Amino acid sequence: MQNRRNFLRNSLLAVTGTGLARNSFQDSLTNSLARDEEKKFVHRTLGKTGIKLPVISMGTGNCDNPNLVREALDRGVKLLATHEYYLNGNNEKMVGQVLKDRPRESCMILTGTGKGLEIDFKNGKFKPETNMDTFLESVNGCLERLQVDYVDILNAPFAGSREAVFFEPLLKAMESIKKQGKARYIGIASHNIEHEAIRDTADAGIYDMVTIAYNFRKTNQQEMNEAMQYAADKGLGIIGMKTMAGVYWDKEKKQPINTRAALKWVLQNENIHTTIPDCSSFDELHQDLEIMADMGLTDEELRDLDPPSEDTTSGLYCQQCNRCLAQCPENIDIPTMMRSYMYAYGYRNLSLARHTMDRADQHGLSCKDCTECKVTCTMGFDVREKIQDISRIIEIPEDMIYLT
Ligand code: SF4
Ligand code: SF4
Repeated sequence: MQNRRNFLRNSLLAVTGTGLARNSFQDSLTNSLARDEEKKFVHRTLGKTGIKLPVISMGTGNCDNPNLVREALDRGVKLLATHEYYLNGNNEKMVGQVLKDRPRESCMILTGTGKGLEIDFKNGKFKPETNMDTFLESVNGCLERLQVDYVDILNAPFAGSREAVFFEPLLKAMESIKKQGKARYIGIASHNIEHEAIRDTADAGIYDMVTIAYNFRKTNQQEMNEAMQYAADKGLGIIGMKTMAGVYWDKEKKQPINTRAALKWVLQNENIHTTIPDCSSFDELHQDLEIMADMGLTDEELRDLDPPSEDTTSGLYCQQCNRCLAQCPENIDIPTMMRSYMYAYGYRNLSLARHTMDRADQHGLSCKDCTECKVTCTMGFDVREKIQDISRIIEIPEDMIYLT
């Protein structure tokens, strides 16, 4: 039932929604209501930075509405997570538009870029073409699009091996970015073999943060939990992403994952200091705000996280375990293709799906000539079918993709 406070808030929002200017009375009332709400949020400390953040932050990758970001900040969200490659840089521009109207220190910005960091996906090492000047220029591009002098957290991608995390030119570049004040904190972001990425990032000694895919579908939870404990003990801040495990159980979107339960499940791990689920609607934002105040996972929600039927158990979430890589004679970067598939069918984000494939220079054309797939996936995916399916995205003209 709607209480008085919510009634007042919703009434105010209805007024703003009709385009009437807010007066200072309304502003201060809204702010005071937001502050009351914020007090209820569960906060955690982001490792040795000492910064306390609500357990849910905002992933903006699927959001093109600056008013939604404004609303999130007004309601107490403190960290916005974007990336250079979301919407070809336009997502950073949108966030920059929001930041322009606020004191810079009123919220934190996380961004990342991997431009110039050329990765050999087969062995997880940087290729000789890796160019740190390109990487550093790309960081400058992030700042320009965000219209800020610094970001709070800058992530570099995990290439997939310890050797890559300890790659001297990258360590030097990341340290120089921090020294120049372009990023207050630096970190590694990882979608794959996260337990190794977490430990390697902690051991590298220069990083403040690690951003990792973590959700109830992870099959190596114990390994991950142990790695997170190791990193947390060393003072690393830990940020969870991919918390919704693909959002749907099926490509047809007939069986949505209970995202409230999925997010609460992630938050039960106290070593996840904050999370950055994609937020693309006011409904999703309101759900996040509710969870931040009440993370209790009910038995019914836990039951929802069990696959609903035999034929949906594989879901859309690829573990990014890389176990398929050596099996494909055509050298296809199958985990990347599977991630792209999840972005398209789970997140409904075609531009991210396309960009993920483009970045890895993978379009799966070889599957067309392969009469029989040699790959056995640990999740039971029919990788050939999925690759052929997602490869159709290259037939859509780029200018149309980036409209979505
Ligand atoms: S496709 Fe299967 S084997 Fe390959 S990374 Fe994903 S879950 Fe692992
Ligand atoms: S069908 Fe399977 S083995 Fe053949 S190229 Fe595609 S992923 Fe590789």
